[in-house]
Amino acid sequence: MKRVYAFESKCLGCGLCEVYCRTAHSKSKDIIKAHKKENITSSIVIEEILQPKAKMYFALQCRHCASPKCVKACIAGAMYKDENGLVRNNKEKCVGCLSCVLVCPYGAIKKNKDGKAVSKCDLCINYGTQLCVKNCPNEALKLLTEEEAEALI
Ligand code: SF4
Ligand code: SF4
Repeated sequence: MKRVYAFESKCLGCGLCEVYCRTAHSKSKDIIKAHKKENITSSIVIEEILQPKAKMYFALQCRHCASPKCVKACIAGAMYKDENGLVRNNKEKCVGCLSCVLVCPYGAIKKNKDGKAVSKCDLCINYGTQLCVKNCPNEALKLLTEEEAEALI
């Protein structure tokens, strides 16, 4: 399956991927309304990598692991792998225990601002295109298979 890969050498740290992730997962799908009126946690987070001389940034999001620890740890059956290999979160089932947050080795799951459910990358499955990839101004994010990503690294 394809997933979003981040290339830190190209990341500007502009945060546009976070902005568009929130927009994609908003009710309005409107960039302004999503930020001013809706309380959405981005599923992609830009981390600054401390370097002695220069600033570097890295976009952190779910790897959709082959053997996902979050699915095994979920006490409510809310985390699951779908038929396409995508690791997803059913917000209706989630009880907000945050076990998945604790076990994810990448820190890819976020507590929602309402404190009830978790927010994680779903590859914009209901949106039709991955807005973070589409709107990254420096092509630091790419939708690739593992083989395609290894060829680029
Ligand atoms: S949009 Fe691209 S360049 Fe900007 S922070 Fe996100 S990954 Fe980095
Ligand atoms: S949330 Fe973490 S453990 Fe679960 S599939 Fe994504 S990267 Fe793997």
